[in-house]
Amino acid sequence: MSFSFRGNDGVREAMHSVFLYHAIQAGMNIGIVNPALLEVYDDIPKDLLEHVEDVILDRRDDATERLLDFAETVKGSKVEKGLDLSWRENPLQDRITHALVKGIDAFIIEDVEQARQKAEKPIEVIEGHLMIGMNVVGDLFGAGKMFLPQVVKSARVMKKAVGYLNPFIEAEKGDLQEPVGKILMATVKGDVHDIGKNIVSVVLACNNYEIIDLGVMVPPEKIIETAINERVDAIGLSGLITPSLDEMVYLAKEMQRQNFEVPLLIGGATTSKAHTAVKIDTQYKNAVVHVNDASRAVTVVGDLLNKKSSNEYVAKLKKDYNEFRTKFLKRGKEKSYISLQGARKRKYQIDWETSKITTPKEIGVQVLKQLSLKELVPFIDWSPFFRSWDLHGKFPAILNDEIVGEQASQLFDDAQEMIKKIIVKQLLKAKAVFGLFEANSINDDDISIQKSGNEIAVFRTLRQQLKKREGIPNLALADFVAPKESEKTDYMGAFCVSIFGAQELAESYKAKEDDYNAIMAQAIADRFAEAFAEYLHKQIRTKHWGYAVEENLTTEDLIKESYKGIRPAPGYPACPDHLEKETIWELLNVEKNIGVTLTESLAMWPAAAVSGYYFANSEAKYFGLGKIIDDQVEDYAIRKGITKEKARKWLHPNIANN
Ligand code: SAH
Repeated sequence: MSFSFRGNDGVREAMHSVFLYHAIQAGMNIGIVNPALLEVYDDIPKDLLEHVEDVILDRRDDATERLLDFAETVKGSKVEKGLDLSWRENPLQDRITHALVKGIDAFIIEDVEQARQKAEKPIEVIEGHLMIGMNVVGDLFGAGKMFLPQVVKSARVMKKAVGYLNPFIEAEKGDLQEPVGKILMATVKGDVHDIGKNIVSVVLACNNYEIIDLGVMVPPEKIIETAINERVDAIGLSGLITPSLDEMVYLAKEMQRQNFEVPLLIGGATTSKAHTAVKIDTQYKNAVVHVNDASRAVTVVGDLLNKKSSNEYVAKLKKDYNEFRTKFLKRGKEKSYISLQGARKRKYQIDWETSKITTPKEIGVQVLKQLSLKELVPFIDWSPFFRSWDLHGKFPAILNDEIVGEQASQLFDDAQEMIKKIIVKQLLKAKAVFGLFEANSINDDDISIQKSGNEIAVFRTLRQQLKKREGIPNLALADFVAPKESEKTDYMGAFCVSIFGAQELAESYKAKEDDYNAIMAQAIADRFAEAFAEYLHKQIRTKHWGYAVEENLTTEDLIKESYKGIRPAPGYPACPDHLEKETIWELLNVEKNIGVTLTESLAMWPAAAVSGYYFANSEAKYFGLGKIIDDQVEDYAIRKGITKEKARKWLHPNIANN
């Protein structure tokens, strides 16, 4: 089973060509890079930074005195080294290039103004000085010497410079720089996740595409209408949860029905080349491309919109997807499945006579609203953070990686700075609700939740139906809870944790044209949410439930899921059914207790949120449901009291051969 739900596959394709394409278009010679320009720039020593921040963030009453004292202790040479401004002595173009490559915005207005005064027309500064700099950025990126976070920082400087020049260009009644294409970007209806989309937008924008970003939870009618009114050149759809896949299919159909011709780009964590080829590409006669990587997006869009060669490119794409689809479908057919009844006979057997059941110390629902984010920092799993910025590798080794180490360290430092600020200024808020309950499995695949002998909720779990070798069980989560017939009282739990305020924080940076920190804020909020889930799970094991009081695990052990028991999350491989979130929401009164809501696709809002179940049995483990067949869909619909159509709609990513 491959389990990748965040980030992307990391196929880093050189995006050289588009930047080069620009360079050639602009008729420029970009071969000259002064290596002296490429050294680390804003390496402000940590101790100095801390003192300065104490003052700026008003963190202590004696901050000013302490900074002055500190200044006394620093010899000139040290400060000079930290804030090396020698590049300011270089010629104008070198300074602008340096600022773009290093993402330094402190002097860009000053430099651009100088360039403007020398230029005949202000537009020349964009087409000349700034493009020369951005081409160096593109070249370094293409050569694998510069990475996504730095490019997003470069984009920030570029944006600031262009923002400064535009009024001059308009005043002259000159034409603003002509974008090379207009791209509509949207996270589909019912979905709230947009880090990937935002990164792709920034990278495309700094390649001179005009981006119309419709944000998250965008209804298909709005996407269609905007695409027509704005005459966009391509549409990019993003989504993270499985119901979004259907939204994308729907949109492709709509585009075909309305005779659209523009290419459709598909991206986001649950999207895949397989899904794109099998489900989306077949609905739309024109180009459909799966792009899960910001660096590849630029190359792909460049190829799609290149008037001379796009026909050929699209024909090649269609052929590739066609072949991919045929192979994929053939592989799917080779698998065989067993009946639900047969699968139930092969359930995972726990010996309930001897299996240890720990009675929770605290039964019932509890709400946590006062937790300091500081408590969560040690629980952060950093590897996915780097992945969301297209830096691949394991933390902490990634910080010393030969290729991405320097960039990863810089990104990590920036993240630490923001975390400090978030904690000191309380910019984000952590809230959680969780509950532990008496529980027994019933009817093989359901779990009955009880309170004082009365059933207060039932969780429906799904059972693997793939035909397996003799002796290998067909699992369902219900197998990990003692069945009613065992006459043992067992227990299970449920939870929802969320980080509030990320949206507002990101917006505040966006308002300052600071996409880098806007994306950073979202990525950090996601990290805090996952860390919160990890933290709370530990509290459950060692305190509230108390079945692993003696546990002594490092953060690394936690990331490796070495703990006893599991916390599977609806929408993930063992329980891909998002509908079960509704049961968690009712049982824990999530909305009323902490204000996390569910969209029509059952995504959680705020987006930085995790919800799931707790199972304590030492034999409980994570697994993937895989595909199921019709008999289970029908059975599930009956058990749940919903129509078969509704069951099909929600389960369909997991139904075989559909
Ligand atoms: N440390 C990572 C989180 C890993 S995801 C991060 O910070 O991003 C781990 C969580 O995903 C688990 O705790 C569980 O809630 C869920 N999960 C993992 N595998 C699962 C599976 N097979 N079925 C259901 N949920 C799963």
